[in-house]
Amino acid sequence: MPHATLSAKHYHDEDAAFAYVERHVWPNGPVCPHCGGVERIAKLQGSATRKGLHKCYQCRKQFTVRQGTIFESSHVPLHIWLQAIFFVAGSKKGISSNQLHRTLGVTLKTAWFMSHRIREAMRSGDLSPLGGDGSVVEIDETFIGQRKGVPVRRGLAHKTPVLALVDRQSGKSRAFVIDKVSQEQVLPIVKANIDRESYVITDEASVYRSGMGDFIEHAVVNHKLGEYGRGPIYTNTVEGYFSIFKRGMRGVYQWCDEKHLHRYLAEFDFRYSNRVALGCNDEDRADRILRGIVGKRLTYRRTCAA
Ligand SMILES: [Zn+2]
Repeated sequence: MPHATLSAKHYHDEDAAFAYVERHVWPNGPVCPHCGGVERIAKLQGSATRKGLHKCYQCRKQFTVRQGTIFESSHVPLHIWLQAIFFVAGSKKGISSNQLHRTLGVTLKTAWFMSHRIREAMRSGDLSPLGGDGSVVEIDETFIGQRKGVPVRRGLAHKTPVLALVDRQSGKSRAFVIDKVSQEQVLPIVKANIDRESYVITDEASVYRSGMGDFIEHAVVNHKLGEYGRGPIYTNTVEGYFSIFKRGMRGVYQWCDEKHLHRYLAEFDFRYSNRVALGCNDEDRADRILRGIVGKRLTYRRTCAA
């Protein structure tokens, strides 16, 4: 896959890849993942030594920069991981495990494992509320896929509900898999993720009928009346978000298992919130995934290896 920046050394050379990741994960020098120490850490040299191996002389344990990151307990060389991140960051709709498997020359199982971990790193570490300063946040729900063990009938019982919030001003999105479209499930998410100094716009669904008084104003779009021309009172932005998501899910990933849906949503939110229209290029996205890796340190312990 010819691309100008893929020629960078860290995509091909393992030493350069280690140096690159260490710069991101340890901007102020190595940190021991065992004891958190930053002093008396030595890089172990020698031809028989594993690449990037460090020793902490406070707790006397060894480690590499992979430990506690999405690269932990993986046999895949770091420069191949960086290539994978590059491809994920550069593809507009996402990249399937199958495509990654063919492009990187790793097994399909490994490609699947890698793409899930990268997706995890794309999960926003930024949990600060959307909106604020009088900006507008659109809220909507949709139903996706097919739940396991639930017969397909008319209606929506066999589909998984997803709630999405889109901040019109910043263009950022945040989506959640929920079990049921109920006040008990929807309101806490809405309140925890939207700044009170926002205008919120929803459709006329009953879950929004009460409990929305905290915001500057709650405006309701009445779809049933075929409402047009009420100026800024619309939910087209969040509806557009859902339609791109559904197209992407169908085209690239087919329909995924419900238990992985939150991961795909996280990847989609990442792409949506870092899209070209907001001034982000492939390199920015790759960089932000790497920063996500730093944010996710130590959450990967003892997960299955590839
Ligand atoms: Zn230590």
